[in-house]
Amino acid sequence: MGVFRTYSSAETKRIGEAVAKKILREKRPVFAKTQGALVLALEGDLGAGKTTFMQGFLKGLGVKKRTASPTFILMRRFRLRKKYFKNLYHLDAYRIKKSEELFHLGLGEILLHPQNIVAIEWAERVKKILPRGTKKITFMHGKKEEERKIMIK
Ligand code: ADP
Ligand code: MG
Repeated sequence: MGVFRTYSSAETKRIGEAVAKKILREKRPVFAKTQGALVLALEGDLGAGKTTFMQGFLKGLGVKKRTASPTFILMRRFRLRKKYFKNLYHLDAYRIKKSEELFHLGLGEILLHPQNIVAIEWAERVKKILPRGTKKITFMHGKKEEERKIMIK
């Protein structure tokens, strides 16, 4: 999709929202080549904007519930009632020591289903378990305090 620069958290949320809407518009989103879930790997340092992006992403998917920072929650599920997608799983791998820990949460099964969206913060820590076709989104701090660079592959 490209490289974006944002200058406020509101702008980053809007990018998340736009990405969600784009995914919903696609017929067989992005992953025509893979059989399983649509996986987003959100990478980047603390405070780079991954969770902020997710707030917009949830909004774009029509999820009403507010999300607090999931730093202390490994995985949460949101029900989606879309034509194609039925669940969004939001994971935070910050505290994961071994990729395999995610399988204890049932991620193996979750990744098999094409009606799931799986968004993983700190995905660089669990590279091993990311399926082929994972869509990588990298967040970086910019020069100014509220500047961020978001790269969407
Ligand atoms: P992460 O999940 O990557 O650790 P968060 O989204 O939780 O990051 O935190 C980003 C922090 O930076 C928030 O406090 C947010 O208000 C602030 N912020 C400032 N400018 C931006 C921006 N352009 N995009 C996203 N967050 C920003
Ligand atoms: Mg976060």
